[in-house]
Amino acid sequence: MRLVLATRNEGKLREMREALSGLEVELMTLSDFPEVPEVHEDGTTFSENARKKALVAAKLTGLPALADDSGLEVDALGGRPGVHSARFAGEEADDDANNTKLLELLKGLPPERRTARFRCVLALAFPDGRVYTVEGTCQGLIAEEPAGDGGFGYDPLFFVPEEGRTFAQMTREEKNSLSHRGRALRKLREVLSRILTEGRAYGRKDQDRKGR
Ligand code: IMP
Repeated sequence: MRLVLATRNEGKLREMREALSGLEVELMTLSDFPEVPEVHEDGTTFSENARKKALVAAKLTGLPALADDSGLEVDALGGRPGVHSARFAGEEADDDANNTKLLELLKGLPPERRTARFRCVLALAFPDGRVYTVEGTCQGLIAEEPAGDGGFGYDPLFFVPEEGRTFAQMTREEKNSLSHRGRALRKLREVLSRILTEGRAYGRKDQDRKGR
């Protein structure tokens, strides 16, 4: 199966390639289809955004397409920044600005009220309009100050109590083993293997019918 990864983000690409390695899929990216426009992420949920990106890519390329959307939900902020995680401190905001804003808003809150989770939704869409979605979450606490220099985004503030460290203090493998994206990618791998197996079985039946 040829599959288009609906992202131009190199880091995500590498992660998706690793997670799907060994499956019988030939991976392409939107760089192979420069005519496909950027999708405006205007959904109110991660699922809406991921589905929209995957469906647009599948319709315009004529191939199955995979898209993701992810972000941070902080309970004391009613689930914000959520789908606005990348631009929490403004359109031009960088990771530092977003983290500073988050710390400001949570200033003085005790640890038990600093609960949060990362959420990732992956959508696999087909040109005929079928869409499969899977979701992964990772529960944690927003630390009172940044720690660690690995990862990206909110990683230096995202403290995982069971590990006693932030995401930014973990190796890439450690973070993958428990992160929202790692969990969603492992579920996607199962969905994709099932679809590939069913496709092969259908192909055999089709050949049997033609052979008769
Ligand atoms: P998107 O999925 O590229 O739209 O990601 C949205 C934003 O969520 C990112 O720019 C980060 O701010 C945040 N985010 C998503 N996943 C992670 C993660 O694993 N670590 C830190 N920040 C993340």
